[in-house]
Amino acid sequence: MSDFDVDLFVIGAGSGGVRAARIAAGHGAKVMIAEEFRVGGTCVIRGCVPKKLLVYASRFADEFHDAAGFGWSVGETTFDWPTLIANKDREIDRLESAYVANLERSNVKIVRSRAVLEDAHRVRLLATGQIVRAKHILIATGGWPHPGADIAGLEHVISSNEVFHLKELPRRILIQGGGYIAVEFAGIFRGLGSEVTLVYRGDNILRGFDEDVRAHLRGEMEKRGITILTRRLVEAVEKVDHGLCVSLSDHEQVIVDQVMFATGRRPNVSGLGLDKAGVQLDDKGAIKVDRFSRTSVRHIYAVGDVTDRVNLTPVAIREGHAFADTVFGGKEIVVDHSDIPTAVFSEPEVGVIGLTEAEARHRYARVDIYKTSFRSMKMTLAARDTRSFFKIIVDGETDRVLGCHIVGPEAGEMIQLVGIAIKMNATKADFDRVMAVHPTAAEELVTMRTKAATYIREAAE
Ligand code: FAD
Repeated sequence: MSDFDVDLFVIGAGSGGVRAARIAAGHGAKVMIAEEFRVGGTCVIRGCVPKKLLVYASRFADEFHDAAGFGWSVGETTFDWPTLIANKDREIDRLESAYVANLERSNVKIVRSRAVLEDAHRVRLLATGQIVRAKHILIATGGWPHPGADIAGLEHVISSNEVFHLKELPRRILIQGGGYIAVEFAGIFRGLGSEVTLVYRGDNILRGFDEDVRAHLRGEMEKRGITILTRRLVEAVEKVDHGLCVSLSDHEQVIVDQVMFATGRRPNVSGLGLDKAGVQLDDKGAIKVDRFSRTSVRHIYAVGDVTDRVNLTPVAIREGHAFADTVFGGKEIVVDHSDIPTAVFSEPEVGVIGLTEAEARHRYARVDIYKTSFRSMKMTLAARDTRSFFKIIVDGETDRVLGCHIVGPEAGEMIQLVGIAIKMNATKADFDRVMAVHPTAAEELVTMRTKAATYIREAAE
């Protein structure tokens, strides 16, 4: 009899774990996957998918408003939050069933339990106490919202985990955070009619994004009526008769119905038994892995948010797939984490790939910048004051496009396609050779001819 019950035990049935389990089983491995909450993980159950459904819901308000300029009389509109949430839940249930069916079809054994490491080869299922002996283990436990400092009244604060199940639409909401989840929910609630206050401790929202993108998005969000308070922190939340009283670090107080913190996520490693197995963490608390996603223990691997490399669903999926191909498929695959296109489903939307202007100027001797801001055609008759923004960053010596940054409708869709060109090392001349599709907003990508700036780095002494 084999020393092991399974060839692969996967902890966590989210984006990375599910893909790894299915591909490994396809290569002939005997696979078991444990999930303590719901199959599908953060993205499907309480991340990308439900969020995008809420984003869609929030955008109808603009459509109703804009229709008048095009001759439509829409009449009085009303919005019902419980209907949206119930329909969203039905779709999430359907997706979870599809994930379960796909795993079962691939001969992956699903166990509904929290799983923890007993040692480097044994996993304990907490639901039954059963011990499973595994030849290889994959840790794909994702991340978890981190509320920041332990302030007074933290029990009144929700995270992105709870926001999808609010009983009613808050009339007034305060969101703390400046990352993509914070700005996305600010846009969702504003679109659905809530009064929204965004509080962020830094200088501006979307830290790490191109400065022009940050400034443009902030301006557009403020035009939509979102109050953005930067260089401030929530210091306390107190329940009062008519809602929640939020005290800020500048001594201002704001009364709202709901407070949400989107202040970052941490690798989900607590109580996992990593020390018993000898799996090491890095200094930020993420599981340390090599370029094959192998941990400090030879037969234990980790993929996705728990490794805190690039915390996005397609990245977790790619890492899970590469792991399964490498360990069970006989082909060594290293995931390329460079130039990952990504979107922020704020209002307006953001799509970016590659270097920011600051990064490019730091790394390259000569950098050319092309950028434009304009009112898109639809906004003219809609009589809405919103502008789109496009920026292309080019290596002035080789003409290669180093980065592209878009703020405006369908930016996420556009950046996916720009991503193909950038991964092929397209030059600005390649962009310029492409005929424009007219009339579109995307034609700006191939019609920007005038440099907004050229930066030449001073030679080091
Ligand atoms: P997860 O999908 O988090 O899966 C981990 C699973 O492990 C979970 O199901 C968890 O219950 C389970 N688990 C944990 N510990 C154990 C244990 N001990 N035993 C058994 N099971 C366990 N990414 C995008 O690309 N685009 C987006 O638009 C986007 N929007 C997002 C919006 C929100 C609100 C959030 C929170 C995230 C969003 N993300 C988005 C990020 C994306 O969801 C994650 O990057 C992705 O889900 C990571 O996949 P993963 O496999 O690492 O972990």
